[in-house]
Amino acid sequence: MVSDKIKQIIRDVPDFPKPGIIFKDITPILKNPALCNEIADALAAQLAGVKVDVVAGIESRGFLFGLALAQKLNVPFVPIRKAGKLPYKTIQQSYDLEYGSATLEVHEDAFETGQKVLIHDDLLATGGTVVAASALVQKLGAEVAGYSFLINLDFLNGKDRLKVFSDKLFALAD
Ligand code: IMP
Repeated sequence: MVSDKIKQIIRDVPDFPKPGIIFKDITPILKNPALCNEIADALAAQLAGVKVDVVAGIESRGFLFGLALAQKLNVPFVPIRKAGKLPYKTIQQSYDLEYGSATLEVHEDAFETGQKVLIHDDLLATGGTVVAASALVQKLGAEVAGYSFLINLDFLNGKDRLKVFSDKLFALAD
């Protein structure tokens, strides 16, 4: 199964980016084109029955399979980026990190009113990042169709942060 393949191939890197964190490194997946294709197909398949008008991927690892997924679904892709990276007019949403805060941005014309936006990232940890991305979607009058991840670190209870939409949480592995 694709979930077993993901779990086997990702690499646990201890003490990155700081002591005590075990970082799930997905880069070995990218060296396996057959598995990349299988993952893109599986991300699309788990959305059967979900109406998706746009896929929004979160910088930077959310771009990798976010675009592949959008192409499988034959819908547009929108990048959600860290502050100061997008060239055109943007709207912003800040969110708290364990220490300090961060800001996500999207182009102000990224979504149309009422569009159903699937938010994609490589990994769900505490949920803070995708909650901020959801706020950007809603500020532009669009709706969150669901959340798509390769990996959900279930023990961090990110899904609780998304409780309104927990029936819309799609992950290939945990
Ligand atoms: P959250 O906001 O706590 O859910 O963190 C999720 C964000 O941090 C996503 O954008 C992930 O790409 C990134 N992230 C956190 N931990 C890891 C990890 O172990 N591997 C890869 N990305 C991670």
